[in-house]
Amino acid sequence: MSGRWIRIFVLTAVIGILVVGGWWFYMMAEAESTAVMPLHVTGDVEEVLTIRDPGDDRFDPEQIALRDATAHAVSLEAVIAAASPAAADYDVLLVGADGRSALLDGADLASGRIALTGDYGWEARMEDHPPASNIKNLDRIVVISRGAPPGETISIVAPGKNLAHFTPGQLYESGLQQRWMEVGRSSVSKEDRTFETVALKRRKAVDLEKLVDVGPGEQVWAVGELGEVKAVNGNDVLYLDGNTLVLSCADGNVRIDRLRGLIIDPPGRMITDVRDDAERLLRQDEPVLLVLIDGLGWHQFEYATEEGLSPVLSSLPRPDCAMVAYPPVTPVNVAASLTGETPDVTGIHDRRVRRANVPTIFSFARDAGMKATAIVGPMQGVELEIDPVLCTDAAGTGSTDDDILRAALERVGEGYDLMLVHFKDVDRAGHEHGDTAPETLRQIARIDGYVGQLLREWEGHVVIFSDHGMHETVDGGDHGMFLAEDLFVPYWKIDWRDRVE
Ligand SMILES: [Zn+2]
Repeated sequence: MSGRWIRIFVLTAVIGILVVGGWWFYMMAEAESTAVMPLHVTGDVEEVLTIRDPGDDRFDPEQIALRDATAHAVSLEAVIAAASPAAADYDVLLVGADGRSALLDGADLASGRIALTGDYGWEARMEDHPPASNIKNLDRIVVISRGAPPGETISIVAPGKNLAHFTPGQLYESGLQQRWMEVGRSSVSKEDRTFETVALKRRKAVDLEKLVDVGPGEQVWAVGELGEVKAVNGNDVLYLDGNTLVLSCADGNVRIDRLRGLIIDPPGRMITDVRDDAERLLRQDEPVLLVLIDGLGWHQFEYATEEGLSPVLSSLPRPDCAMVAYPPVTPVNVAASLTGETPDVTGIHDRRVRRANVPTIFSFARDAGMKATAIVGPMQGVELEIDPVLCTDAAGTGSTDDDILRAALERVGEGYDLMLVHFKDVDRAGHEHGDTAPETLRQIARIDGYVGQLLREWEGHVVIFSDHGMHETVDGGDHGMFLAEDLFVPYWKIDWRDRVE
C-alpha cells in the first residue's frame, strides 16, 4: 500500500471516529436533557412555554450556590417575560408536583431564580420571600391576571345578565379537579393473546357548578372563538389546556377547542333562524320582508318600550329574544342571518372576509326564479348573490337611513318575493352616545317610524331583527364582546294578518 493510500485510510478513519463519536455524544446529551422534567409556564400568557434547558439564553442563565454546591438557574422574571403575560398586573402561582404551591405578586419577582437540581428537579429560589415560596419539584408556573377587562376573559352570560368573567389563569385558583381522560386505545396481538392499552391524560377539569349557578333543567350553550355554538351535554367536560378552555365529550373528543363563553338558559332563537324562517315562507310562496335594525340590543328595545319611544315595534306581538353569532359585529351577523350558519361555517369572523363559504337566502331566491332585492347603505360588507341597491346620503341629511327608506318604499309594491332593508343609524348613535343615551333612543324612535311606514305598504310576512346590541363605554358605546348587552337582540316574525294598519 502506498503512503498516499495509508494517509487517505487514516484520514477516513479519523473522520469516521469523529462523526460516530459526535453522534454518540449528541445522543447522550439528548438522553440527559430529555430526562429533565419539563417546566410549564401557563395561565394568562400569550405564549405557553415548556422549559427543559436551564442554559436557555432567553432566561438569563447563571450558576448559583445551593446547598454547598452549584446549580444551573434561570431568572423567574425573564421566564415570565418570555411567555408574555396577558395583563399588566398579575400574580404568579408556583405549583409543585406534589401540590404544594406558592402565590406571589408578579411585581416582586426580581430576586427569584428557578434552579435545576439533582435532588428536587426544578426548584424555586426566592431570595426576598419567605422560605415557603421555595417550591421544590416545580411542575408549572401559572400567571394569573388581576382584573382583566371583560373583552379578554371567558364569560358566562344569560339573557339580560353578565354572570361571571374569568381568565384561564384565574381558573387555576378556583374549581379545578384532576380527571383522567381517554386519548386513545391500541392493542397488539402476540401468538393467541391480545394486549390492550388505554392511553389516558390527566386533565384539569373545570367544575361549572362552582363557577355559576345552573338551575335544574336549565340549558347551557358553549360558544367558541370561531363562533361555534354547541349545547352542553351532561357528560361533557370543560378542561384547561395551557391558556385555553376546552369543551370535550367524556370520551375525549373535543367539541370546542377554544371556548369563549357560556350561555346559561339561552333564548329560544338564534340569529341563524332568519334564513330558515325566510326560506320556509318563500317555499310556501309567501313574500318576506327582512328588516335589519343595526345595533338594537334586547335591553335597548326594552328601554325604548318603557319610555314609549318605539310605538310601532312595541305594538307588534312581543318579539322573541335571539342570540347573535360571536363576535357580535355586523358582517359576522349579516352572514349568519342570511346563510343560516354560524361563523365557523360561513368563514366570516370580521370585516376582512366578504364572501361567505355558504350561499345566502338570496341564492335560494335567485335559483327559485324569485324577485329579490337588498336595500342597504353605501357599503355592503358581505357579498350577496344579487346586486344590492346601495344608498348614499343624496339629500345631505347626514344619514343614509332616510334614503334607504325612500328606496324601499319605491320598491315595496313592485311584487318582490324577498326584500332586505338594512337601517344603520341606531348603531351609529349607539357608538357615539351610548346604548341608552337620549340621542340613541331618538334614533330608535325614528327607525320605529320607518318600520311602521314599511309595514303599511308591505304585503306579506316580515322578519325584523338586529345584528348585535351595544354596551356602554367611557365615551359612548361599542359591541363585539361576549356581553349580554351585545349578544341578545329582539326578533319578530310577523304573520301578514298581524300587520300594523
Ligand atoms: Zn357598530
